Amino acid sequence: GLDLRGVLKRNWLLIATVVSVLLGIGLGVLVREYASLSKLDKQYFGFPGEILMRMLKLVILPLIVSSMITGVAALDSEVSGKIGLRAVVYYISTTIIAVILGIVLVVTIKPGVSQESDNIDRTGTTPNVTTVDTLLDLVRNMFPENLVQACFQQYKTKRKELEALEVKPNTTTFPPLSTTVMATIFPPENITKDYTIVGAYSDGINVLGLIVFCVAFGLVIGKMGERGRILLEFFDALNEATMRLVQIIMCYMPVGILFLIAAKIIEVEDWEIFKKMGMYMVTVMAGLAIHSTICLPLIYFAIVRKNPYTFILGMAQALVTALMISSSSATLPVTFRCAEENLRIDKRITRFVLPVGATINMDGTALYEAVAAIFIAQLNNFDLDIGQILTISITATVASIGAAGVPNAGLVTMVIVLTAVGLPANDVTLIVAVDWLLDRFRTMINVLGDAYGAGIVQKLSMRELERMDVTSDADLTNP
Ligand code: ASP
Repeated sequence: GLDLRGVLKRNWLLIATVVSVLLGIGLGVLVREYASLSKLDKQYFGFPGEILMRMLKLVILPLIVSSMITGVAALDSEVSGKIGLRAVVYYISTTIIAVILGIVLVVTIKPGVSQESDNIDRTGTTPNVTTVDTLLDLVRNMFPENLVQACFQQYKTKRKELEALEVKPNTTTFPPLSTTVMATIFPPENITKDYTIVGAYSDGINVLGLIVFCVAFGLVIGKMGERGRILLEFFDALNEATMRLVQIIMCYMPVGILFLIAAKIIEVEDWEIFKKMGMYMVTVMAGLAIHSTICLPLIYFAIVRKNPYTFILGMAQALVTALMISSSSATLPVTFRCAEENLRIDKRITRFVLPVGATINMDGTALYEAVAAIFIAQLNNFDLDIGQILTISITATVASIGAAGVPNAGLVTMVIVLTAVGLPANDVTLIVAVDWLLDRFRTMINVLGDAYGAGIVQKLSMRELERMDVTSDADLTNP
């Protein structure tokens, strides 16, 4: 029969996390009803959650660097090239599927047609960024000029600049976005040009830049023979130590999440907006649901021939985390643990494929951008022809690649999609108020897409991996 105690024992953390989500929602609703907290009180309330976020973000840097370098160095360059190519093909094709699904839904449901855009408040000015600027920025980020700075500096300086300029939109109608996001949507004239709009930046880390560097560095180490082995071993040990830290952090997770979600519920000011934006939200959610429960599982099953839903269960902890913190980068440590411990995906694959996926593969974001752009077109009674719909598909894909794995990043890169078809970019402000909720769900789908990618690439690379197991003596990465 079913071994209930065994199930409980193996899944205690997941169970505790889910329970704490529910408790957190309950607590949030209660406090909202019965206590009137001051702004400061609310901040205190969010404190345990803030600590969780800080801890997760803390391990991103050592995790990405150690896993990318060892991931690439442990494979020979031909094999890593093949794996990389497979991953990229998977990323792009699933992103395009997500975009098409989003477009089909928004064109059939027409959430913006029955509504006048004047019913929704608009604030802010048009950011003056061009698609070319954003693309150049994306590529520029791939080549950081200073490795140390790529790890922390730029964002902080910019943030200070922003704070000095007092970039604060009307906070009663807007959820507290990160300063980065606000500055992009409401750019003070004098800093727009210099500002990194398409952020490879995840909380001050230029992730994309680091990934490019680590791939190159890993390739070089892999070719260095005996001498390279010292570095490989160093980064391998760093990776293991980091993963052990992650395990400890995860024990704190239920507490952090409880307060995170409760604080969010206490903080939201405008629930009315959800009624106004109802059909738009339903469209996005339906798209995300179909993509994650039908499209991705079908692709996984077609290639791997294993139950795609047990796969989702194995990822549950990471999915809940993504839902709670709306950041694929900060979820990455948990994604790693689920993929390696629960799903037993080969470390040579996860190390290579997951960090890249968390940075550039965002199915949920792409779907959302396509839906949102067409929704805004519908609000404006703007008829889109086939060419413009095609432009939206392409730019939504690019925009999802360019979006950093941080909260609300997709909102920022929306600007690319809107300007590409001649829609007013400041209409982004129409959808800002509900973004905190949609962001959570699309982040969850982003993370799921990355994980399926790892499973699929592993399956496709079975032969190379086995061949390496036979030829290499002591395999460092797969004890
Ligand atoms: N928050 C999302 C993520 O981290 C990005 C987005 O805003 O769409 O994956």
